[in-house]
Amino acid sequence: MTTAAETVHCEPWCVDGDGHQREHYRRDQWCQGEIIKVVFGLEDLAPALPIATVDLSEPGISVYPRRDWHGLPYVALNVYREHSNEFLAIDTDLRVTAAEARELAAALVDVANVIEEAGG
Ligand SMILES: [Zn+2]
Repeated sequence: MTTAAETVHCEPWCVDGDGHQREHYRRDQWCQGEIIKVVFGLEDLAPALPIATVDLSEPGISVYPRRDWHGLPYVALNVYREHSNEFLAIDTDLRVTAAEARELAAALVDVANVIEEAGG
């Protein structure tokens, strides 16, 4: 006999927003926001320009808000890159706090500014 999974209170940014009643396990009742993907054009399997629609299978990083069952919200980053050498392929998830995400964003902007200000 199975019992219905407990519903959860969804975050306001959850794309499902229905309490995840369809899930069978509490560990699957997690909230996720919209995915934002940045495609990395310097990678070997980068798509040709112009990019009409961003595909999650393209090389790059996807970011989105997420909160696991009875956990705290965090910024999820998925780093993805296919490679002909399987040891160089990457598909891993990272979890960072909102403060760490802001720090990372600021560091990226600072480094990009260094390159552009040098005329690169
Ligand atoms: Zn939710």
